[in-house]
Amino acid sequence: MRHTLIRTLGFVVVFAGLVVKPALAAPEGPDPRDPRIEKILSQISEQRIVEILHKLGSFGTRNTLSSTDSPTMGIGAARQWIYDEMKQSSPRLQVSFDTYQVPKGGRITRDIELRNVMAVLPGRSPRRVYISAHYDSFAAVRPPAGSPRGQAAPAGPVDNPAPGVNDDGSGTALVMELARVFGQSGVNFDATLVFIAFAGEEQGLIGATRHAEKMAAEHVPIEAVLNNDMVGNVQGGDTLEDSIHLRVFSEGPEDSPSRQLARYLGRVGAKYVPTVQVTPIARYDRFGRGGDHSPFNRQGFTAVRLTEAVENYGRQHTPADTFDGVNVPYLLRNVKLDAAAAASLALAPPPPAVFNERGQPTLGRQPSGYDSDLKWQASPGAVGYKVFWRSAWTPDWQHVVPVGNVTEFVLPAMSIDDYVYGVAAVGPDGNESLVSAYVNPPRR
Ligand SMILES: [Zn+2]
Repeated sequence: MRHTLIRTLGFVVVFAGLVVKPALAAPEGPDPRDPRIEKILSQISEQRIVEILHKLGSFGTRNTLSSTDSPTMGIGAARQWIYDEMKQSSPRLQVSFDTYQVPKGGRITRDIELRNVMAVLPGRSPRRVYISAHYDSFAAVRPPAGSPRGQAAPAGPVDNPAPGVNDDGSGTALVMELARVFGQSGVNFDATLVFIAFAGEEQGLIGATRHAEKMAAEHVPIEAVLNNDMVGNVQGGDTLEDSIHLRVFSEGPEDSPSRQLARYLGRVGAKYVPTVQVTPIARYDRFGRGGDHSPFNRQGFTAVRLTEAVENYGRQHTPADTFDGVNVPYLLRNVKLDAAAAASLALAPPPPAVFNERGQPTLGRQPSGYDSDLKWQASPGAVGYKVFWRSAWTPDWQHVVPVGNVTEFVLPAMSIDDYVYGVAAVGPDGNESLVSAYVNPPRR
């Protein structure tokens, strides 16, 4: 069935064939919130987050190269504690070490066994939504006074104090608390949720790189990665303070799936956690810095980095990255934002396919030759779709219209060259997929 949108002055009428469907013409009210997601948000415990932050800071260091034989200090103790906590959070979680043998080389100064810690909450479908952070920490040793400018800091003893409570204890606490809350929620998600804490981030994104390579080799369908790295600091090193915004970095081009995920975080955030304002940044990361979302991008997966609005370089990678540098109410809001986005994605149908087998976007100019005719493939479990569009020189969607359970939609007298279009699948409870955008295939 095809729907046609007729835009007239001041109002919108939608036809299904020749039959007017007034329900679709009604002005769009606020999207209903899913009570299951609201319940998940209400179960997130500030006290639990505080306990996790204190515990993570207590290992002395979580440097990937630090001791693995102490039961209380170093990365070995830290990873075992994270594993045990996730394991006892919920019998529904499949908790494991994701282990790699990493030979000496680069910033890895000896052969090591690196372990990511992951908890999988199986869904009805194999498609995966990730909530991630890195649990390893690092404290640079300052170059001796009088060293030539630009000289790298010596590696120093790897058991140097590196509490890493914000970098990235804040993201690790987020991952652990959401593993607990989602695991205990009793909600049956369509997507499989993965809560993962990576190691080796500070030595060159090693744990995330190995994991992303393995997932790509095994053709695991990862739909979205929300990577949280430093999500608790509100006091900038330059005294600027910001406890409202959360930056979301996403790689281009401008209608890449990662950009759609960034826009999705903004929309879902406004719906469920309006006290957080998502600041989308149209860059893969900060200048000269790295994050564990990038290894996923390199393997072709959709992944973004969530990071506090202002950074404090005086604390990062020093023994001063302690609990008092984390603003717990700010971190709590960011945990809720991740929860809302991940739950929405996991309850929604998968995004509809808008490309044919030859990689061409399935849009055309019919019926008049000057219209926008959008086609897509039905998404399993969808009960309807929403069409998004905007002027082609605009960063975010300007218009959205629910079009019912159809797989084709015509916008008359609108040139496909002048607008960017996208379509999202909507599930029975109103949860929306990521938007699939119609983009020009790359020019040969
Ligand atoms: Zn970090």
